[in-house]
Amino acid sequence: MSDSPATDQGSTDQSSKLPSTARVVIIGGGAVGASCLYHLALRGWRDCVLLEKDELTSGSTWHAAGNVPTFSASWSVMNMQRYSTELYRGLAEAVDYPMNYHVTGSIRLAHSAERMMEFERVVGMGRYQGLDVEMCQVEDLKARYPFLETHDLAGALYDPYDGDIDPAQLTQALAKGARDQGARIVRFCPVTGARRDGGEWVLETKLGEIRCETVVNAAGYRAREIGAMFGRSVPMVAMSHQYLLTEQVPELEAWTAEHGRKLPLLRDVDSSYYLRQEKAGFNLGPYERNCRAHWVTPDDPMPDDFSFQLYPDDLDRLEWYIEDAMARVPLLGDAGVSRVINGPIPYAPDGNPLIGPMPGVPNAFEACVFTFGIAQAGGAGKVLAEWVVDGSTEWDMWSCDPRRYGAWADQDYALAKAKEVYGHEYAMHFPFHAWPAGRDKRVSSLHERMLERGAQMGAYGGWERANWFAHPGDDTSEESTQTWLRAGPWEPRIREECLRVRDAAGVLDLPGFARFEVSGAGAGAWLRAQVTGPIARPGRIGLVYFADARGRVVTEMSVVRFEPDRFWLITAASAELHDHELLRARLPDDGSIALENHTDAIGTLILAGPRSREVLAPLVNGADLQAGWLTHQEAQIAGHGVRLVRVSFTGELGWEVHAPQGAMPEIDDALRSAGAAHGLGPFGMFALDALRLEKGYRTWKGDLSTDYTMLEAGLERFVRFDKDDFPGREALLRERENGPAKRFATMIVDAGECDAPYMSTVWHGEEKVGEITSGGWGYRVERSIALGIVRTDVAEPGTALDVEIYGDRRPAVVQPDAALWDAENARLRA
Ligand SMILES: Cc1cc2nc3c(=O)[nH]c(=O)nc-3n(C[C@H](O)[C@H](O)[C@H](O)COP(=O)(O)OP(=O)(O)OC[C@H]3O[C@@H](n4cnc5c(N)ncnc54)[C@H](O)[C@@H]3O)c2cc1C
Repeated sequence: MSDSPATDQGSTDQSSKLPSTARVVIIGGGAVGASCLYHLALRGWRDCVLLEKDELTSGSTWHAAGNVPTFSASWSVMNMQRYSTELYRGLAEAVDYPMNYHVTGSIRLAHSAERMMEFERVVGMGRYQGLDVEMCQVEDLKARYPFLETHDLAGALYDPYDGDIDPAQLTQALAKGARDQGARIVRFCPVTGARRDGGEWVLETKLGEIRCETVVNAAGYRAREIGAMFGRSVPMVAMSHQYLLTEQVPELEAWTAEHGRKLPLLRDVDSSYYLRQEKAGFNLGPYERNCRAHWVTPDDPMPDDFSFQLYPDDLDRLEWYIEDAMARVPLLGDAGVSRVINGPIPYAPDGNPLIGPMPGVPNAFEACVFTFGIAQAGGAGKVLAEWVVDGSTEWDMWSCDPRRYGAWADQDYALAKAKEVYGHEYAMHFPFHAWPAGRDKRVSSLHERMLERGAQMGAYGGWERANWFAHPGDDTSEESTQTWLRAGPWEPRIREECLRVRDAAGVLDLPGFARFEVSGAGAGAWLRAQVTGPIARPGRIGLVYFADARGRVVTEMSVVRFEPDRFWLITAASAELHDHELLRARLPDDGSIALENHTDAIGTLILAGPRSREVLAPLVNGADLQAGWLTHQEAQIAGHGVRLVRVSFTGELGWEVHAPQGAMPEIDDALRSAGAAHGLGPFGMFALDALRLEKGYRTWKGDLSTDYTMLEAGLERFVRFDKDDFPGREALLRERENGPAKRFATMIVDAGECDAPYMSTVWHGEEKVGEITSGGWGYRVERSIALGIVRTDVAEPGTALDVEIYGDRRPAVVQPDAALWDAENARLRA
């Protein structure tokens, strides 16, 4: 919380005069809105105006504790937070606005070996980003923090960059920096409505109207209200978060006087609180399990104005945490509570903010719903400015992209997830664990049957899919998934599912393949001009890639072409909104090409394995099961029209059976009875992931992202330089001339008990040479496989590298540029 009054330093006429036009209007003057304005100005976009309902910082910003961690288990969030700390270190000087920013370092305590492994992974990611974060042994902790009880700890992580900043001063500094470059801020100017007029936005405010090209919603916990003005339902909930401040503690005062600095910030993540020195007292902030959301029921409406206000104290909820913290730092027990701060903290369903294009709304962006908006404001401003100015971002920011949620992410979902995430703010995210709240939002017509067969479900873009199939007696408890290890009750089942697909046949219900039908005169030529490579002929299926102007991979789609000008585009469940928006934005304005979304209506069964032809043969009427790989045809199964697509992400002979959801139960019955004689059984997403790794097939936003160009991602066979212009062509031509600096590589890793997680560092001797984009065990090749992007000079097959897996450097060897399983695709073509 601020030491200084949160008054605006701008001149009075700036606060009263609303310009009639601006290039960009930012709604909301908290730390994030101010950073957006500052970064737009830094990019030379000075004709920008920030509108604030009340005084700057009057939302969540004024009362924030001001902690500024770099730690994150997410690569992109860590990038954003790292950038913030770098910016804040030089900001006072850069904009000539003195502020309190104490870089005290922080200690994150571990109660378990699993927690230490999480820390090891983050240390690796941090090191790769240039951050010297270190592991600490228990015996070293007292030297860093003398008042700590350590007997029950496993160790800790020390982050020298962590600290605390005065949030109001930070906001004012960013505002000053923006104003000095010509940007404007209008305070006491609530936005009350928005309308589209002549391709521009007209915003209605208490001070009149302002017209602009582009709008940014940076309204913090009020972002839903602003979103509604644009017809957008923002998935978020305001949670109540409290911290308590204590009286001064003489021992702390003496220690600070002696050492000339504050204690490092302490986070007991397994108990779930932060404890920071505030002057010579403490600031204790728990994330409690029995948490509370506000403004979610009719009897608790959000007041029209909550500026500079707080919720009533509710210390009962924190009792366990206060006691736990007093046992950890007994000195805390000597200090009386001087003040409690209980304020609104916005949560999106996964706890990450929303930064990027506002779904469904032209020329509008979001930079809102920040749970750690002080730590992230700096990076968020940079990212937002890139979205507005460039239409793309330096780092892939999918984890914060508003388009990761579709309409399925309704308020019930947002509330259930917000409470789950808040209560587990510091939880570890284990690879075989599925979070239980907010489930069953989108289910296929086979959902109940899958459960009866033992399916252990996971959510993919809101869709429930089987991860693996348990046998009676298998341990399916949530506790069993609290491990980083490959081994667990799922492992023998994944193995048997993979081997079933290898030796006989398996079936996977895969609802939620995002599916768009594109049709109309010129549709084929239009698609060809959008993508980097060729498109399949009618009757065939192929993969296409959309690149951005830098040649980076924006998305991948399968094209099922029916006619020259009619086809389906099929993409990942999680990509539905992203890809729909991308296609819509690129369609010609004249309405000649239609785009329909069939995602909910049509389901997919994946039938794969060498015996799948025998399974299908007695069922399909009039279909040619000898038709080759990458073809598709209409057929009938159990009296229902289906589309059979001969393709398989598993790398085995197989078909995708596409049919209306209503027909799926009877199709499933038919497949099951015909398959009984051929060893047909179910398989799940974990098996599919293992099978695709062995084929080197990439996944979207894992291996394929805007962090990499088409050439770096090893996708040159999907680029046709000889065709007419397409987005990214120039950049890719230039890159081809110079040769890409990084290359996609498949590695076999001597991995031990854990496979390489996303963004593990790749080493060549003592040099960091790349990162892993996905890893896992291949049950057909009996090896741990890692896909990654490494420096070109170490991408040669046979090169010996190390992959850092939870702190352990494991030997790895680069493989030839071919699939590890069935390199000739003979099984797919069988
Ligand atoms: C108790 C507590 C402690 C916290 N501690 C930390 C911490 O240590 N570190 C950290 O990183 N984060 C912390 N947070 C979270 C942090 O406060 C928020 O993430 C951050 O302040 C969000 O900033 P913002 O700019 O997005 O939103 P806000 O600060 O809420 O700003 C939004 C602004 O939009 C304005 N606005 C709303 N509607 C309109 C309208 N119609 N017209 C014009 N303007 C409008 C509001 O008046 C407000 O000023 C804490 C939160 C709480 C509750």
